[in-house]
Amino acid sequence: MQDATNSPALLGIDLGTTHSVMALWHEGKTRLIPNALGDVLTPSVISLDEDGSILVGKAARARLATHPQRSVAAFKRFMGSDKRFALGDQSFSPEELSALVLGALKADAEAWLGHPVHEAVISVPAYFSDEQRKRTLFAAELAGLSVTRLINEPTAAAMAYGLHEQKFERSLIFDLGGGTFDVTVLEYALPLIEVHASAGDNFLGGEDFTEALFKACLRDWQLLPATLDVQAQANLRDSLEGFKCKLSSEVQTLSWNHAGVTREWQLDEPGALKIWEPLLNRLRTPIEQALRDSRLRPQDLDNLVLVGGATRMPAVQRMVAALFGRLPYRHLDPDTLVALGAAAQAACKARDHAIEELILTDVCPYTLGVSSLRGEDDCVAFSPIIERNTVIPVSRVQRFYSSHAQQALIRVAIYQGERPWVQDNIFIDAFEVPLPQTGEIQALDIRFSYDINGLLEVDVTLQHNGERHSHSIDHTPTGLGEEARKASHQRLNALKIHPRDTLPNRTLIARLERAWAKSLGDDRERIGDWLATFNQVLASQQSTEIAACQQQLNGALDQLQL
Ligand code: AMP
Repeated sequence: MQDATNSPALLGIDLGTTHSVMALWHEGKTRLIPNALGDVLTPSVISLDEDGSILVGKAARARLATHPQRSVAAFKRFMGSDKRFALGDQSFSPEELSALVLGALKADAEAWLGHPVHEAVISVPAYFSDEQRKRTLFAAELAGLSVTRLINEPTAAAMAYGLHEQKFERSLIFDLGGGTFDVTVLEYALPLIEVHASAGDNFLGGEDFTEALFKACLRDWQLLPATLDVQAQANLRDSLEGFKCKLSSEVQTLSWNHAGVTREWQLDEPGALKIWEPLLNRLRTPIEQALRDSRLRPQDLDNLVLVGGATRMPAVQRMVAALFGRLPYRHLDPDTLVALGAAAQAACKARDHAIEELILTDVCPYTLGVSSLRGEDDCVAFSPIIERNTVIPVSRVQRFYSSHAQQALIRVAIYQGERPWVQDNIFIDAFEVPLPQTGEIQALDIRFSYDINGLLEVDVTLQHNGERHSHSIDHTPTGLGEEARKASHQRLNALKIHPRDTLPNRTLIARLERAWAKSLGDDRERIGDWLATFNQVLASQQSTEIAACQQQLNGALDQLQL
């Protein structure tokens, strides 16, 4: 038990595509909370063990290579979609899988603190849609956490930087994680942190850089992906993930054994740059948009801050440096900043006196509006009501008219996006308002109120009689009815979660099995011996011996970088 035992649990959670991290505000400072293995990064990976129990984190990540049909990663990329992921004979939605990660973090935080945790501030990509935010709230609900605020990831990172450095002026936060890319331009005039603009791409992250290597390598080997089974594909992706992190100006060699054939692939940074060129180009668009929306030029910025694991790629750092003509700021750990900022935000919410002074303003990163008929050909156009990068909370009203005097009701259809026609934007919700039958065209005011969590409420007022129709956009996910929500609760309640106290042992076995699968010859034989030794030690039930063996074997695997 730690010395933070008596503090209120002001938990900040970075629910990441690749890793999740939790932090706490304690005695005027943010602190990272370790998981059951003592690590601050928990891989956002779920695996179904052979005994039917759910593994979350490092053990699950090790099983991605050895048990790909029972393991899943990067599901955050599909949050808000109807995609389901099969784990053995069960299937889960992205929010159910996220709930399992949140549940594991909650259990670890409770064990570390020695008391229950009920509330958290959770970070989401700035560019997450309304539906994706609602699904994140639902994931928290499934995990038994009440969310005091959803904070945008780059805003959280900015807050952590602001607290640490206390000096920045105009900064651009460049946040490239495993699955999403966000750019935020903000200004520090402490105690005020003012977000000017956010832009992003929800489908661009470090995983895409690994995937590009996967495709290029198979092309060079003249292998079609379809000729590899799921296991072989997972194994190669796993090897390429490590290979990507080692790329440098020197040529690196990847060795991969499949079906008795060992293949080699050589690559250096310039070679990787060619493969990644389309992805690196895609990084420019949100940067340009965020600068344009905040009416700033690159030279107006005082600082560039890199956040997210994928900003460790030298190719990304060089691209950013060339674009802005200066070196980015990288003194703080890009993996943990978002969680630290979320914990600081939790403290602000709880009005902790040490942080009370800090005021954060955020923006709505996308345009919100309604469908309307435009022109003579009845095209369904998108009429913006709240434009992107408006400071929140915000309430904006706009007048609309019925299309003809006999119209009995009007359908208010709400969309988000930046395209002129509704079919190209994201549908959020719709409702109908009956119109008075006066024989005249009716005027109505539609008001949008967007709150600090990025969630929207809509009000319609009829000008003829002042009648008001409030439509609280359901904060439950649009695609999920009461039945589906209940079913999710039941499905998760029925799951057996692997016990926290034996997780270090289970994780080591999963790591050893993965290392065995990846190696050959002498190394493989040695790892096989380690696996047998560890199983024997486990059978002895001597806790001191088990702990010593664990430490020794984990160290040996670290050295082998496996
Ligand atoms: P995050 O979601 O912020 O944890 O970022 C995870 C992404 O960062 C993954 O796609 C990793 O492959 C990538 N990443 C982490 N460390 C490195 C590294 N040293 N070099 C290249 N990519 C990295």
